[in-house]
Amino acid sequence: MIIAIDGPSGAGKSTLGKMLAKRFGLLYLDTGAMYRAAALAAIRQGVELEDVKAVESAAESAVIELTGEPDSMRVLLNGEDVSSEIRTLKMAQAASVVSTNSAVRRVMVDQQRRIGKAAPNGCVLEGRDIGSVVFPDADIKFFLTAKPEARASRRFEEDRAKGRISTYEQTLAEINERDDRDVSRLDSPLTIAEDSVVIDTSELDLTEVFEQMLAAVVQYQNEAA
Ligand code: C5P
Repeated sequence: MIIAIDGPSGAGKSTLGKMLAKRFGLLYLDTGAMYRAAALAAIRQGVELEDVKAVESAAESAVIELTGEPDSMRVLLNGEDVSSEIRTLKMAQAASVVSTNSAVRRVMVDQQRRIGKAAPNGCVLEGRDIGSVVFPDADIKFFLTAKPEARASRRFEEDRAKGRISTYEQTLAEINERDDRDVSRLDSPLTIAEDSVVIDTSELDLTEVFEQMLAAVVQYQNEAA
C-alpha cells in the first residue's frame, strides 16, 4: 500500500504521516528531508544554490539515507548523521531553492520510487509532489492544508519547544516564501493531485485529522478486499 501525503509547510504532514505509518506498519519516507540533505551537500561543496549544473552534480554524488523508525528517523549524508543540521531555517530555505532544480528533482524522485516500491508492507511518503509525480498511482492520496496563520503558529510553537529562536512574524514570512516558491516553480509545483482526500486542518486537532485519514485508509482496504 502506497499512501501519498502532500501539502504546504506546517500543515501537519510529518506528524500525521508518522502516525499512519506506525498504525499500518508501513515505511515512512520524509521526502523533504531528502531535499534538505541535497541542499546541505551543495552547501558543503561550496556551490552557489542557483548554479544549476553544480547543484545537480552535488545532488547526484550525494549518498542520502533515511534510517530508523518513524519517530527516531535519522538522515545520513555520505554516512554522516545530519538529522539536526538539516532542520534549521537556513536549510529549509536552501532546500526550497534546490528543489526548483529539475535535475535534482529527477535524482530524488528516482530514489523515492525505488525506496517506496521496495518497502515490504508499503510506504507513507510525505512531500509536495508525491501524489502528482512520484506515485501518481498511489493507493490513497491526502492533501493536508491549513491557513498560513495556523501553520505558522504551529511551526512557531514547535520551534520554541525545540529551543529555536524566532518570532511568529519571521515564521509566517518564511512559510509564505517557501509556499510561493513551491507553488510557482515550473517543475512539479505543489498542486492538489486528482483523487486526493483534501483536509483543511486549520480548525481541527491532531486526533480529528488522524480519524479522518484512518477512515479513508480503512475504506480503501475494505474496497480492495
Ligand atoms: O517538507 P520540508 O519542509 O522538510 O521540505 C523542505 C523543502 O523541500 C520544501 O520547502 C520544498 O520546497 C521542498 N520539497 C519539494 N518536494 C518534496 C518535498 C520537499 O520540493 N516532495
